[in-house]
Amino acid sequence: MYFDTHSHVFDEAMLDDLEASGVSEIIIVGYDPLTSKKACDLAEKNHRRCMRILPAVGIHPLYVGDDPEGDISTLRSLIRDYPVTAVGEFGLDYYDEKVRGATSDRDRQRRYFKAQMELCGECTLPALIHSRKAAQETYDTLAAYPEVKGVMHSFIYSAEMARRFCDLGWYIGIGTMVCSPEAKKLPAVVRDVPADMLLAETDREVNETRGGVRLLSVAEVAKRIAEVRGEKEDIMLPILRDNALRLFGQIRPV
Ligand SMILES: [Zn+2]
Repeated sequence: MYFDTHSHVFDEAMLDDLEASGVSEIIIVGYDPLTSKKACDLAEKNHRRCMRILPAVGIHPLYVGDDPEGDISTLRSLIRDYPVTAVGEFGLDYYDEKVRGATSDRDRQRRYFKAQMELCGECTLPALIHSRKAAQETYDTLAAYPEVKGVMHSFIYSAEMARRFCDLGWYIGIGTMVCSPEAKKLPAVVRDVPADMLLAETDREVNETRGGVRLLSVAEVAKRIAEVRGEKEDIMLPILRDNALRLFGQIRPV
């Protein structure tokens, strides 16, 4: 029984496979108004499955537009009309802005970030935060909204930073990168963060392979977390699922 706390699986056949592989809950994360609606429709259509499909609605920092008010009101309507589990993903992404030539877009990202934090507060929903090359600014923004809690999804910053986010009451989302030998800082994060603040996720969009590389499952991520912490799987795996159930505990019936 695995809870995948972050994925972008919009394909029914793939959901069949995930259900058969032992995923018991999965959050389907929107990244713009259109995919947010898609996540909601998917959850509604599939509510008879054994695997619970939980939609999240949000606007990713690389998909921000020019109309925060309009876009937020679209998200607000989805939250009103569907059993939305979380707001996300949203946040700050300054990673490849040189390539994108988009420095001026930092202000738009900031506006959407704050507007979605406010939406979380207004609707009492947890937040799924995407953050790249913006650790301190992300931290400061989250700290400014103490009433909002959630997860730092696909965490890639230092163990020290992870502790600071945890102290603020935020969960740390661990992705498939933890299974890679190239993940230098991530094992220290997994070891340092209290067990009850860790979540497992895949961030998966497509089936099985991407560019010839086999994609890892949430089960593999969870087992790797247990291994890195030197913990027995039968102890660590239920803790990871319980953490997700606690954070997303306001899961509303469809
Ligand atoms: Zn994502």
